[in-house]
Amino acid sequence: MNEGKDTRRPLMTFWLIALLVLFIINLFVQPMYEKSQIKSASYTDFMNAIENRTIDKVEVEDNKILFSLKTDSGSDEIIYETGKLDDPELVDRLYNSGATFTSEIVEQQSPFVSFLLAWVLPILVFFLLGYWIQKRMLKSLGGDAMSFTNGLGGGLGKSNAKVYVKSSDGIRFSDVAGEEEAKENLQEIVTYLKDPKQYQEIGAKMPKGVLLVGPPGTGKTMLAKAVAGEANVPFFSMSGSEFVEMFVGMGAAKVRDLFKQAKEKAPCIVFIDEIDAIGGKRNSGNLGGNDEREQTLNQLLTEMDGFDSSNGVIILAATNRPESLDPALTRPGRFDRRVPVELPDLKGREDILKVHAKNIRLSGDVDFNKVARMAAGASGAELANIVNEAALRAVRNGRKFATQADLEESIEVVIAGYQKKNAILSTKEKLIVSYHEVGHALVAALQSGTAPVQKITIIPRTSGALGYTMQVDKGNHYLVSREELLAEIATLCGGRSAEEIEFHSVSTGASNDIERATKLAREMIMRYGMSDDFGMVAFENVQNQYLGGDASLICSPETQTRIDQAVVALVNQQHEKAKKILRENKMKLDEIAKYLYERETITGEEFMMILNRKPELPCGNDTQPAAGTAPETLQK
Ligand code: ADP
Ligand code: ZN
Repeated sequence: MNEGKDTRRPLMTFWLIALLVLFIINLFVQPMYEKSQIKSASYTDFMNAIENRTIDKVEVEDNKILFSLKTDSGSDEIIYETGKLDDPELVDRLYNSGATFTSEIVEQQSPFVSFLLAWVLPILVFFLLGYWIQKRMLKSLGGDAMSFTNGLGGGLGKSNAKVYVKSSDGIRFSDVAGEEEAKENLQEIVTYLKDPKQYQEIGAKMPKGVLLVGPPGTGKTMLAKAVAGEANVPFFSMSGSEFVEMFVGMGAAKVRDLFKQAKEKAPCIVFIDEIDAIGGKRNSGNLGGNDEREQTLNQLLTEMDGFDSSNGVIILAATNRPESLDPALTRPGRFDRRVPVELPDLKGREDILKVHAKNIRLSGDVDFNKVARMAAGASGAELANIVNEAALRAVRNGRKFATQADLEESIEVVIAGYQKKNAILSTKEKLIVSYHEVGHALVAALQSGTAPVQKITIIPRTSGALGYTMQVDKGNHYLVSREELLAEIATLCGGRSAEEIEFHSVSTGASNDIERATKLAREMIMRYGMSDDFGMVAFENVQNQYLGGDASLICSPETQTRIDQAVVALVNQQHEKAKKILRENKMKLDEIAKYLYERETITGEEFMMILNRKPELPCGNDTQPAAGTAPETLQK
């Protein structure tokens, strides 16, 4: 709370200066102003003026006499002032001189009123002004820091209650598609909130906190809302970053306030989104900067200890960086239950598409299963976006409903960007891109263990891709074998290989393929233990598994050199394999590349039809690979 004193000090200075200014005005300026209007004169002058009958008006006051002289009309009247003498005949003489004379009737303003006017009113004005400035200042500093300065403002404590939203949108479990395991897990909490007695009788305690863990956009917020919706209890929501304030202690105050409100409204759900913003590991070596976050976290830990779930307050929190959370937060008694909310599988994707498709008008030809297969790896949020994009595209094309083609195109938009309508490729470039893409497709189709080709296109996209080959899996798959990974690397090499075979030169178009092939080869060796030289040893630590899966190396520089060599050897080997496949099928490569060059986009069926046209293929490999291989891939 010493923060409060610091904020008050400049304000004290302000008040002192204000008082000083008042003093000066009252003591010096005002009398000087008055004086300048009145000239002093001697009593003799006054007497003379009466004698000479030049006197005009006289006002006799308590301690002085004010008078003016007769003047020619037009010139300014000057008021003279003189001291008052004990002069009993003054009235007679004035009467004889013909002057108009008065004495003060109204006494000077009562001292009380003049005190009010001279001191209290100005102070009041300054006070209001100062209060206004201070309020503006603090507002611009962020937050409602008034709670620290209410020595002046008075009783403007926590006003952050607005942040906690009571959900009224009534989301139910049925609105969250897929995520069956998560729903099952959370169902228990719903049952508990509805009827705590059956649990208390047996002595079972509900977990105080449940951590929803998963990649962004998988529906963690939705699930939390759905729990509140199903149990029909209030829902308090706040994002972790909202707790972190400019002043140390503010975040802690907010936590305290949040829990106070929650306890009043119990039973209820408190949802903290992005909890890693406050719940990250505390480390001692860090100098400064983190005080606020740590205090907030400490307050959160204290609050969680301070109640038990029999109060009916259950805390749900979401994060996509569970490994970065402070262990104190994840220990039993706090967030002791962890519910994974993973990316949806094929069935889940199909269900999510259906849930969101309810809101738009669709034509009868829509095949959700196919769309779901094409959108492998997409999160719930992305799928929602795909459906919306399809509806937008339908409107753009002047239709009243969205079609299968709209959905497929919007997947490509989400993955590869919009079509570049006016990017003009030279004939040569277009031919190179055709060969490149067909090279990918052929190498994929002529190996076993690869996903079937769904579409090949050489229409440039805003993402920079000049064309791509889309492969789509038939079903789900959870394990990838060494052979499948090798086949995928070969497929990635197929584009460059086709260019080499046809044009005897290489282009920059393969950069993305090279990057991905290298990454796969490296992962095979370093993470999956798939090389004979190194065996089952992991050389890297995966961090942020839900956010792209960055990894850090854990091996000696010598080993690193050997790994690099092994990666090069592995990719080269697959490159050779791809070239061999294409050389053996050069006629098909030419035929399909020409076909693609003319059409610009061909479907997987067209591709397979041309490929299978002559039964006597030189290479008798399986052209219809088994289901369940690599996820949908795009080869630029
Ligand atoms: P998270 O909190 O995991 O980042 P959200 O819960 O905010 O994700 O989800 C974002 C949006 O994505 C939701 O508003 C919803 O439209 C859509 N969404 C995500 N997952 C699902 C799902 N399983 N079922 C239906 N819609 C989903
Ligand atoms: Zn490519």
